[in-house]
Amino acid sequence: MSKNIVVLGSTGSVGRKVLEVVREFPEEFRIIGLACGSNIRLLRKQIEEFRPYLVAVSDREKGEELLKEVDECGVKTGEDALIELATLEKADIVVFSMAGIKGLIPLIEAIKQRKQIVLANKELLVVGGEIVICWAKEKGVRILPIDSEQSAIFQCLEMRRQREIRRVFLTASGGPLNRVSKKEMPFASPEQVLSHPKWEMGEKISVDSATLMNKGFEIIESKYLFDIPFHKIQVLIHPEVVVHSMVEFSDGAVIAQLGVPDMRLPIQYALAYPHSLPFNRFLDISHLSSLTFTLPDRDRFPALGLVEEAERKGGTALTALNAADEEAIEAFLKGRIRFTDICRVVEQVITAHHPLDARKIEFVFQADKWAREEARRRLNSMAEEAGEQRKV
Ligand code: MG
Repeated sequence: MSKNIVVLGSTGSVGRKVLEVVREFPEEFRIIGLACGSNIRLLRKQIEEFRPYLVAVSDREKGEELLKEVDECGVKTGEDALIELATLEKADIVVFSMAGIKGLIPLIEAIKQRKQIVLANKELLVVGGEIVICWAKEKGVRILPIDSEQSAIFQCLEMRRQREIRRVFLTASGGPLNRVSKKEMPFASPEQVLSHPKWEMGEKISVDSATLMNKGFEIIESKYLFDIPFHKIQVLIHPEVVVHSMVEFSDGAVIAQLGVPDMRLPIQYALAYPHSLPFNRFLDISHLSSLTFTLPDRDRFPALGLVEEAERKGGTALTALNAADEEAIEAFLKGRIRFTDICRVVEQVITAHHPLDARKIEFVFQADKWAREEARRRLNSMAEEAGEQRKV
């Protein structure tokens, strides 16, 4: 019997890849619901191809526009529509691949309805991990990751007992600025940052990969997904992107998962779990001349230290970090601030933040709102400063 799938964030880069996998295995999967932010042109095409019963568009105006054009399925708009989709009675799997934290309440509601969760959006765990994992435990819901590193750890753990874990090695390509010197770092342009050498991704995650903030988020993601203490997770720079992550066990064995860097692999693994499906790309092992692993340069990439600092502070500090990071990235992509200002703003916001209890959703949203306002205020003065320097 095929699995019924809902994709929240179907027009984004991961969402499109999820649909590619579904297209490849029509016997296995069926799309019953799709949601996007505002790209109704692409959503229209996806409706024609996949014939869902219900779609949702976050942007109300765009949603109403689509409603006039479409009569083959239900169209809803606004935030409540996401909850309706995430809890559709017929849904077996709900994929969370939309940017930002508007998926947090739908994620919690889907877990309460015991849906199988497939998670691409790691920010939901960074911001709401305490609440999400608490509900997942209570309802006995397993969250399957489609981040390549988390999928690798998940696969490594399939063979051994969780309590035997000594360390987790989370690999990072190093991103587009891996070879850029500290002096040149402030002048890295949005174009340079958006051209990732190994992975094709959305804009926000591309910038997070360049600062290594993405890797910091992945530490938090691993912590929650696999219940591994923060200090046992070690980031390694591995520019070849062949080993997607490794787990070291108490008897000294290290188990790694290797494969081509292709998002369809972790997506397919999560959707088909506990079964597996064939793939059409393979590693040419005999031509791998070398695999290198080095510790990240924390001086050039302060983001990892900032995540540690927020983790140490506890409560909603990670929520504040994520909100400040998102605002700073937007300002950077608009050319208002320099690349290194992203971490500067994040640091200032975390330092100024008084953490609230992250087990209460209202506090999470309150911290998010506070941090965005705080970040914007600081970004405005940084942008002014930069403008004045340009004039001189
Ligand atoms: Mg990743």
